[in-house]
Amino acid sequence: KKTLRLILGDQLNYRHSWFNEASDDVFYMMMEMRQETDYVSHHIQKVVGFFSAMRAFKDDLEEKGHNFFYLKINDSDNEQSLTTNIKKLIEQNEIEHFEYLLPDEYRLDQQLKNLCEEISISTNSVETEHFLTERDDIADFFKGKKQFLMENFYRKMRKDHDILMEGTEPVGGKWNFDHDNRNKYKGEVPIPPAYSYKNDVKAVISDIEKAGIKTIGTVDAENFHWPIDRKQALQFARYFCRELLPYFGTYQDAMHSEEQFLFHSRISFALNSKLISPKELVDKIIEAWEENQDKIKIAQVEGYIRQVIGWREYMRGIYWAKMPGYAEMNFFEHDRKLPDFYWTGKTKMKCMEKSIKQSLTEAYAHHIQRLMVTGNFALLNMTDPDEVDQWYLGIYIDAIEWVEITNTRGMSQFADGGIVGSKPYLSSANYMHKMSNYCSNCYYDHKKKVGEKACPFNSLYWNFYNTHRDKLAKNQRIAMMYRTWDKKSDQDKEELLKQADYYLEHVNEL
Ligand code: FAD
Repeated sequence: KKTLRLILGDQLNYRHSWFNEASDDVFYMMMEMRQETDYVSHHIQKVVGFFSAMRAFKDDLEEKGHNFFYLKINDSDNEQSLTTNIKKLIEQNEIEHFEYLLPDEYRLDQQLKNLCEEISISTNSVETEHFLTERDDIADFFKGKKQFLMENFYRKMRKDHDILMEGTEPVGGKWNFDHDNRNKYKGEVPIPPAYSYKNDVKAVISDIEKAGIKTIGTVDAENFHWPIDRKQALQFARYFCRELLPYFGTYQDAMHSEEQFLFHSRISFALNSKLISPKELVDKIIEAWEENQDKIKIAQVEGYIRQVIGWREYMRGIYWAKMPGYAEMNFFEHDRKLPDFYWTGKTKMKCMEKSIKQSLTEAYAHHIQRLMVTGNFALLNMTDPDEVDQWYLGIYIDAIEWVEITNTRGMSQFADGGIVGSKPYLSSANYMHKMSNYCSNCYYDHKKKVGEKACPFNSLYWNFYNTHRDKLAKNQRIAMMYRTWDKKSDQDKEELLKQADYYLEHVNEL
């Protein structure tokens, strides 16, 4: 039977069983489309990264004997829509059977399901063979529970996949070594240079420009440093294991004005496009640890593995358990606009300036910058979660809805009312000062709560708790904050709230 198989841009799994054998009857289809480039303003590096990785994927598999239909963004027969392109190819080539890899995005899943109902040939969908869990595993695991505790899921993953286990016990006697991790970075150990490629992406950029796609951020056309094929992704992972893993956990939460990447792996693009699988990555981490036990401690290894087999799989499961409703959730009913400086980095708050400017130049910020700097401020500003989502979905090279929305709307904005997290991630300047050196070189004074040059995070923090008392005071994990607030004098409270009002009103001038 003449078969058409669809591969989406984030389904670049070179090791998928589809490719075990080439066949004259099987045709693969990939396409660059306005449908995907235009649903938000993406960072230029994100569009370049996906198009480059897709083109390299097709070239590699074509060389191995597989047949491809590949539509580039400016091809005249490209209809720019997923379903129109598929229908047209089926008709033009007298295709008798259509297959697709299960998408990770709800929108595409719906589109393909509907398409299969419309067309008259037989159809089939198969797993991408990337994740350790299946779409509905989380929903089954937490059936009947209001809150989905990541820790419980993570322990199950460790046991089910026999990762860092000694029989039924966790290696090192503990499931979690967070206590040993999470220091401020004061230059104690040098940070190895960021591993990067000098991919020449001029041709892809020229195609994007010709198509008139609206993007944000900047790109170095001759030195595109993200991995764009499997070989590069594996080299990236090896470099991480050798050079960065020894201090990953220790500085996992640290932020530094002169260090954009610290000891982070920057592997999320390679993972999310499926150039590399989580299992391969975890195997490499464990191998590196077993071979270098003198240099790499269990706390580093556990800290990393928790992110990959814990948080990443967990977020995917939440997404499938809660979509499509999740994308509408707005627990606090926030409706303010995202401040203009999110698009320029032009603000006097050093932590925000550094995190945003770096996002615009690198299409990357590490987790704590996303959560405790830009995410934290967006929440304190009481921003409409739709606006926050759109920003995160566009700006990062690794941003794909299943993992972006659960982190942004869920973990960072608490818009799901406590499915992902048990309380909002909020902090005043105190945390910023504790975990970074941003405050030492800032226009604002991190110690000041009110008055001139008082750090905005301080008054906005109390204002937030005061505003949302109804929704938060019953939360056991937050009750103490209200006791502290209630102990403040009326005058202190009034000054803090006045300061916050002023800052909210003039947020674009901060
Ligand atoms: P490392 O710190 O080296 O961690 C290793 C890997 O663990 C990551 O590559 C990632 O695959 C996984 N991981 C770590 N934390 C998480 C997490 N919370 N959820 C899922 N996987 C995790 N991650 C994305 O992949 N895409 C996104 O669009 C995205 N949006 C985010 C938005 C917000 C507001 C927040 C707070 C976090 C977001 N994250 C997202 C999670 C995390 O910040 C990134 O995965 C990480 O910064 C990527 O950089 P890295 O590869 O250097 O990660």
